[in-house]
Amino acid sequence: MSVRVRFAPSPTGHLHVGNARVALANFLFARRHGGAFVLRLDDTDTTRCKPEYETAIEDDLRWLGLAWDEGPIRQRDRLAAYAAAAERLKNAGRLYPCWESEEELEAKRRHRLKRGLAPIYDRAALAMTEDQKARAFASGRPPYWRFRLSDGETAWDDLVLGRRAVKLPAVSDPVLIRADGTPLYTFASVVDDLEMGITHVIRGEDHVTNSGVQRDIMVALGAEPDAIRLAHLPLLVGGGGEPLSKRLGSLSLRALRADGIEPAALAAYLARLGTPDDLAPADLATLAAGFDLGRISRSPARFDPTQLLALNRKVLHTTPFAAVRDRLPAGATEAFWLAVRGNLDLATEARHWWEVVAGSIVPPPLEGEAAFLRAALARLPPEPWDGTTAKAWAAAVSAATGRRGRALWRPLRLALTGEDHGPDMASLLPLIGRDRVVSRLSMAAGAAP
Ligand code: GLU
Repeated sequence: MSVRVRFAPSPTGHLHVGNARVALANFLFARRHGGAFVLRLDDTDTTRCKPEYETAIEDDLRWLGLAWDEGPIRQRDRLAAYAAAAERLKNAGRLYPCWESEEELEAKRRHRLKRGLAPIYDRAALAMTEDQKARAFASGRPPYWRFRLSDGETAWDDLVLGRRAVKLPAVSDPVLIRADGTPLYTFASVVDDLEMGITHVIRGEDHVTNSGVQRDIMVALGAEPDAIRLAHLPLLVGGGGEPLSKRLGSLSLRALRADGIEPAALAAYLARLGTPDDLAPADLATLAAGFDLGRISRSPARFDPTQLLALNRKVLHTTPFAAVRDRLPAGATEAFWLAVRGNLDLATEARHWWEVVAGSIVPPPLEGEAAFLRAALARLPPEPWDGTTAKAWAAAVSAATGRRGRALWRPLRLALTGEDHGPDMASLLPLIGRDRVVSRLSMAAGAAP
């Protein structure tokens, strides 16, 4: 059996880290087993889905490196398939028409709660006589359609959560077809998964009840419920254990990308979150080779931005110039990138070092250092400069002033970069160049009291 999985976002907003984790799990699972990763857009809710979100989702997935093998398949293009499947359910007596309004349903829910009953649908429409139904149809108000769930429970061996069961009588019969004839996700998804030969559904733990319902729909459509294996990923929570959804806005992939997070860092982080594996930089092929649903913890995984940032830093340390070139300031060279990458938490911080190297900086006042700075200025070697220049210069300055180590380098670094720490001066000096070094040292010496 060859593995076929799908990532099925609804284009009603931007992808957040929770979605990205699900997408990544599907992608890595497919790669691990030599299977296919399908992108499906669950876009039947025409009031909430927007084309700009579709584009954004594709763009975000590409950024993360999750190339899909098939798709995007749009549910809106498959309405005929859902209509045909709905017809089969109607003929089997599993889909029944309902006319209650939202207000009526709400009143019934409140009434049931008051009587201490679970607020599920009471199947009043299922009890309508043929005569009542005929009159309702004749009224011209189109019905919406509910699926009559089976009695009893449906249970499966979840590839992450272990044995799970859903008691169907505790769930309301789901609406599968709206009054305007469009199908709901619950239904369209089952039809798609079956017709597209999906072998594993990997998604968030918030879908567990849904899975129980969808297994029942599968059976009603004549399928074997275990034909599709299920894996539910425990939800992501914030550092304090709070649901991540409260802060979703700041954790969209767009926002992380704008903040300068590397896709490789995010992927390595999300792939190992909630597993016993160490958080370390790894490319997608390595992540896929080690990906195992059975190693994902059954408890919620903590999404900790500090850990992500630490991983981002490690990833940057080995990121080649070609991978960041487009994001660096105009004119930035490979030598520049190699000099600064070890000092960055985020690639966006390279901008500051480019200013230091090629722009202008304001050195802080260096009290009592005027004479030292002038002595250093007088001993600057002539150009050309290379990686050995700093050492030769320091030896000459040391011989003249008697200073060594930090006492020698700190004032020079402050005068030349405006910072008291940063990339290795040996790499920075040739990048800054003699002219700038001369003018910065003179300025700092002149300004020093
Ligand atoms: N469109 C659904 C969602 O985004 C898909 C869930 C599923 O994977 O079936 O929640």
